[in-house]
Amino acid sequence: MSKKWVYLFDEVEQAEKDVGGGWENVRGLLGGKGANLLEMVRIGVPVPPGFTVSTEACNAYLDSGETFPEGLKEQILEALKNVEESTGKKFGDKKNPLLISCRSGGKFSMPGMMDTVLNIGLNDETAAGLLKLTGDERFLYDSYRRLVQMFGSVVMGAPDDDFEEVITKARLKAGVETDTQLTADDWKDVTKKFKAIFRHYAKRDFPTDPYEQLNLATEAVFKSWNGKRAVDYRNAAGIPHDLGTAVSIQTMVFGNMGNDSATGVALTRNGTNGENRIEGDYLTNAQGEDVVAGIRLTDEISKLKTEMPAAYKEFEQFSKMLEKHYRDMQDVEFTIEKGKFWMLQTRDGKRTAQAAVRIAIEMVEEGLISREEAVLRVSPEQVDLFLHPQFDQEAIKAAKASGDMLATGINVSPGAAFGVIALDADLAEKWANEEGKDVIMVRPETKPDDVHGMLASQGILTCRGGRTSHAALVARQFGKPAVVGVSDLEINMSEREIRVKGRVFAEGEWVSIDGTEGILYAGKLDTMVPDIKDPYLMELLTWADEFRRLGVWANADYPVDAERALEYGAEGIGLCRTEHMFFETDRMPHVQQMIMTDSPTERREALDALLPFQREDFIGLFRVMDKKSVIIRLIDPPLNEFLPLQVDLIQELADLKFRLRDAGTLEDTNRLLDQIEEKRQILKRVESLHESNPMLGLRGVRLAIHIPELTAMQVRAVIEAACIVTKEGVEAHPEIMIPLTSHVNELKSQRDVLEVVAKKVIEEQGIDVHYKLGTMIELPRAALIADQIAEYAEFFSFGTNDLTQTVFGISRDDAESSFLIEYMEKGILTENPFAVLDREGVGELMRIGVQKGRSVRPDLECGICGEHAGNPESIQICHELELSYVSCAPFQIPLARLAAAHAALRDKNK
Ligand code: ADP
Ligand code: MG
Ligand code: MG
Repeated sequence: MSKKWVYLFDEVEQAEKDVGGGWENVRGLLGGKGANLLEMVRIGVPVPPGFTVSTEACNAYLDSGETFPEGLKEQILEALKNVEESTGKKFGDKKNPLLISCRSGGKFSMPGMMDTVLNIGLNDETAAGLLKLTGDERFLYDSYRRLVQMFGSVVMGAPDDDFEEVITKARLKAGVETDTQLTADDWKDVTKKFKAIFRHYAKRDFPTDPYEQLNLATEAVFKSWNGKRAVDYRNAAGIPHDLGTAVSIQTMVFGNMGNDSATGVALTRNGTNGENRIEGDYLTNAQGEDVVAGIRLTDEISKLKTEMPAAYKEFEQFSKMLEKHYRDMQDVEFTIEKGKFWMLQTRDGKRTAQAAVRIAIEMVEEGLISREEAVLRVSPEQVDLFLHPQFDQEAIKAAKASGDMLATGINVSPGAAFGVIALDADLAEKWANEEGKDVIMVRPETKPDDVHGMLASQGILTCRGGRTSHAALVARQFGKPAVVGVSDLEINMSEREIRVKGRVFAEGEWVSIDGTEGILYAGKLDTMVPDIKDPYLMELLTWADEFRRLGVWANADYPVDAERALEYGAEGIGLCRTEHMFFETDRMPHVQQMIMTDSPTERREALDALLPFQREDFIGLFRVMDKKSVIIRLIDPPLNEFLPLQVDLIQELADLKFRLRDAGTLEDTNRLLDQIEEKRQILKRVESLHESNPMLGLRGVRLAIHIPELTAMQVRAVIEAACIVTKEGVEAHPEIMIPLTSHVNELKSQRDVLEVVAKKVIEEQGIDVHYKLGTMIELPRAALIADQIAEYAEFFSFGTNDLTQTVFGISRDDAESSFLIEYMEKGILTENPFAVLDREGVGELMRIGVQKGRSVRPDLECGICGEHAGNPESIQICHELELSYVSCAPFQIPLARLAAAHAALRDKNK
């Protein structure tokens, strides 16, 4: 007996058995569309009878040089007989002909594959029979012309436009606006013209033998798997080439049998906002493709409720059934034939981030899924989307309807962007930076020379490349929406224009790209920014909080940031960078004075002047963070950062000298001389502070040891602030953090300074405040001797930015826009280690640090305050390392809460 290639729609159990179980495997065998057709039959949703030819048959066909494998033909005929029996119709019969559709569909849906052919089985003779049966000549010729049209374009490769042109002309001639208004005679005439087009392109007559039609269509579906567009798409999207496509062959039901017939597509819930109501489009008296193609004006589903209430009721019932079975929102295709409802396709529906959240919440309320599942169904990346502009769904709909949805490609960097087309990097940069234009940079592919243009652009679009192309990597790196590998896009550099599906756009014209979905639109689409404080999201996050083990803290320097962080759910401040406070204009003069002077008294004066400012800053933070920890990091950057740049000083000196030459009065001369002297002093100081590698120079704890008064002032400000708010009834939990420790003696010396000051302040204030002393672990040595450090430090905070720099020996500022991109393109690194924590190197040091630290101090609080704390994959690692918390930017807190819950749930479900 030959292998089983064909599965009747009621043979889903057999298919399961043959693949050894597992829904993924069934989908692999029968394609997503096919598998779901069989599944719908199993659960009792009305599906027109049919059968699915497996992907294995496709592969066998392609592997054997395009011949049907043994037994396939026989099995198809056998299955067809079975369908004839259950429908009471006969394929090719002159009296009561069975018509079928031939539908493609692999495991993953992908653009570029062959479309569907409807109405197979029609020829002049069966048409006559069908006419007698239905008495509906208009229906008949509408169906017939569709077969010739689809067969011509899909199977034989005749251009769609030629066919559409005939229809447009027919409408004009008849003086009508829509296809529905065309009469039987009009369609009869159209059919004749279509046959002529067919002959012209296929170099043969339209095949009249229904079996030949079916064979040709099936083979065409098989071959379309290796079509250029399909192959390009798979290459770019990373889909394996050996999956093959299935072919579903199915009894036709007719949405074009009059005004009690219709066809449509719908989501079982609103895909934009998640509302639990069917949302979609349909057409009365029409057939399938019309709605999907978006070439005819459709009605909203809500109208169906009043137009065909009985069918709508069935629709609702079957939607619920599908949702209950698949436990998710479905995207369905349906047809109503003379009032009878048929489901033709179902799959999990696409949705915006907002809809995903609301649907997850409501499905829990409806008892469809558990809270755990709801939390797992929303990805941290989707939460991130709440923060970025997206295209307005109405705008997308309108673009689709008017044919402005131009092409699809690979969605490599999420977000919506619009701009004018710029075809090279220099022009993109010029338009964006000098003329303030929004630019979309369009290139065949990008190279390192293009980076400046990409940075200036709102978004990036390329014809070639996939997920790891240069364009994709750079776009993700800098958060620019990008769509790459748009194979329908042609760039004509000599004409400075692009061409997509027959439309031409000159450089400077508007386009829009959706990097989340991978779609290119013509024109400028409206955008909207969702509300991160969406009530459904807030609810989902409170569920996430029940599951997560990691704390979620925020990096915040100012009280307003802390307030925002609290609103988003922060449980502490993991990093307050005190030097940010120094940069404010009213403080800079004191900071500079402190740096410039060699006299201890003058330095003390400067520091005394800074003290009240710092104290106020901390008071503000403590008040906001009542009862919660606030980690205050003592000054970190090298002093040079507080002084003017050397080049600027030299320039200013030159200017002053120039003015001195022309000075009129003695008074002017003296004033200028004073100014010159002052600048000279600053320049001298800047030069003396100059370092070749400031990142590895006099900064962090080294600076504090160099100028102990600085530590003393900062500690005083912290403790005084804590005492003051304590008197107000606020519960302050200051944690003082020393940056850049590498040797335990550094910490020891700092602790000595700190304890003296703290003790003194506490005595002065007459209030006992509790504070902690801890350190950043951001140098490899610190991690390696964490046990020694833990003798003095009551908490650790992993500064993974510096730790990554020092572990790799890579200077981030220099590397990120240059060789790191090359490294990723060449596959040397799979991720940017500054974006995703390097598990093996940095992660391993963290593991050692945590383990050694806790060996001395079991309750040691260990957190992370580097940028990785806002990255889901890195949060997963932090969870595994059993850190106490992650501390990220306030706006990343929702994402971090969810990612931490995902990590915990994954752990639990392992
Ligand atoms: P696609 O993958 O492009 O959506 P489908 O195979 O789903 O292709 O077919 C597109 C449309 O054709 C369907 O949505 C449906 O409206 C129509 N169609 C397909 N098969 C049938 C059928 N047997 N009876 C009626 N309409 C059909
Ligand atoms: Mg479909
Ligand atoms: Mg650091």
